[in-house]
Amino acid sequence: MNILANNLKRQYDLYAPEYEEKALEVLRKGWYILGQEVSSFEEEFAAYIGAKYCVGLASGLDALWIGLKAMGIGEGDEVIVCTNAYIACVMGITINGAVPVFVEPDEYDNLDASKIEEKITPRTKAIMAVHLYGQSCDMSEIMRIAESRGLQVIEDCAQAHGTKWQGKTCGTFGRVGAFSFYPTKGLGAFGDGGAIVTDDKEVADYVRMFRNYGSRVHYQNEVVGANSRLDELQAGLLRVKLRHLDELNAERQRLADRYTREICNPSIRVLKTRPGCFNTWHQFEIHTEKRDALAAYLKEKGIGTIIHYPIPPHLSEAYAYLGYKKGDFPVAERYADEVLSLPIYNGMLEEEQTFVIEALNAFEG
Ligand SMILES: *Cc1c(COP(=O)(O)O)cnc(C)c1O
Repeated sequence: MNILANNLKRQYDLYAPEYEEKALEVLRKGWYILGQEVSSFEEEFAAYIGAKYCVGLASGLDALWIGLKAMGIGEGDEVIVCTNAYIACVMGITINGAVPVFVEPDEYDNLDASKIEEKITPRTKAIMAVHLYGQSCDMSEIMRIAESRGLQVIEDCAQAHGTKWQGKTCGTFGRVGAFSFYPTKGLGAFGDGGAIVTDDKEVADYVRMFRNYGSRVHYQNEVVGANSRLDELQAGLLRVKLRHLDELNAERQRLADRYTREICNPSIRVLKTRPGCFNTWHQFEIHTEKRDALAAYLKEKGIGTIIHYPIPPHLSEAYAYLGYKKGDFPVAERYADEVLSLPIYNGMLEEEQTFVIEALNAFEG
């Protein structure tokens, strides 16, 4: 059997006629940038998340970059972020001239809220809550700290489309919720895409202006902006998938439940979900000290896996200038050596999952 870590073709096949009909409709309309599909998607996605506004952008990185900029984050400001975040989270901060201040993750692989306060300085302006692998950070604690210390919050929801914390949808806690629609994400497009959601009209207006060369009125440019527009084709296809997002999340939930029930190998620790979190299972994450041996063994059997992520941002070459070294953030460094994402995708067959589970349980290391 050959099982990919992620199989986008299977997900496509689930609703292929609907995507194909929409694609042709958009192609035949002759209007490809900032039109009806984008504004309808923005309305529908805002309603789905439970936010007042959504502004479509070209990528998740742009959503973090422009979202932080709209919050007034700039040169020399400090932004608190998890040490095991994706590199894009940190880039969203540093593109704005701001400084990432790293806080180690907890046992759920997300920002350890109990370690935030010791990192706050007079320059701290914001906390970035990255909802990694589809599960939510402890938003009660993060919002309590932010409110008591006068900090803003941006949520990176690139892996958490529809994830909830205590019944409230992620992306609605902070001033800005940033989403990616990269094809592998829970709500994935057929190319690049992203968006911010917010209840703050000023933020929404600023992002809408910035994404189109800093222009609200054609050819009048207020700031040096960006070309960061979600296109009509992606927006139309995202509208189709959004109608099915709850089913897609429920299917991954069933796959995750089965993994959780049936993986029983003493050398493998299945990542638990924080009580109070409705997990949308962007990844199914395990930890094992024998990670590289396990990945090689699974590969041998035809089972694909991915490491999210092998190099924590503070040790990446791009951030050598921050001056960190190995040993500075031992929890994130250990996680980088231990984590492995198992195959989990919409359209995964029962016998494929059985094969993966049997292989995992037979692994002796
Ligand atoms: C994918 C991802 C991003 C970046 O999104 P792009 O659309 O690829 O720019 C940012 N943060 C997290 C946590 C992600 O998983």
